[in-house]
Amino acid sequence: MRNVIYLGMGSNVGDRAENIIFALSVLQSGGFVDVKKISSFYETYPIGPKQRKFYNIAVKATASLNPQKLLSLIKQTESLMGRKKTLRWGPRIIDIDILFFNNIVIAEKNLTVPHKEIQNRLFVLAPLNEISGNFICPLSNKKISRILSEKLLTLRCQKVKILG
Ligand code: AMP
Repeated sequence: MRNVIYLGMGSNVGDRAENIIFALSVLQSGGFVDVKKISSFYETYPIGPKQRKFYNIAVKATASLNPQKLLSLIKQTESLMGRKKTLRWGPRIIDIDILFFNNIVIAEKNLTVPHKEIQNRLFVLAPLNEISGNFICPLSNKKISRILSEKLLTLRCQKVKILG
């Protein structure tokens, strides 16, 4: 069965664009994943320790794999590219996240879909909005474009207390 999936990808080591493109070709090499749309590359500020900026993209693809098999393929791709287990939020040659898998909600020990940080991360929302702003998140029932504008609003508006 062809499932519609969205992936978030990032790299901040070596040739960041090349790493992402190479990972895409590894993901597709077995014939189970077929990339349909790729966003622009976004240079983004890292979270966590001080380190180089990331390149991030969002990808729409079809996959004839179940969610766990897709996660295994992603982990194989990351380890083939030399990704080591390092500190949380540390530098990484490649990071691949499953953002959405059809419209399903998964809460398993090793896999949460929709990815739990989507609504908090502009480096995910901006590229995702570029390729599929009308996609409706099955958890919040909101379009990506709306989740993005709500996130942008939180950056520009802050509640203040005026005393006296
Ligand atoms: P990270 O450090 O972001 O690469 O996190 C990797 C771990 O997150 C993996 O070992 C996965 O089992 C787990 N994980 C949970 N949900 C997801 C998801 N939606 N996409 C990718 N990895 C996930």
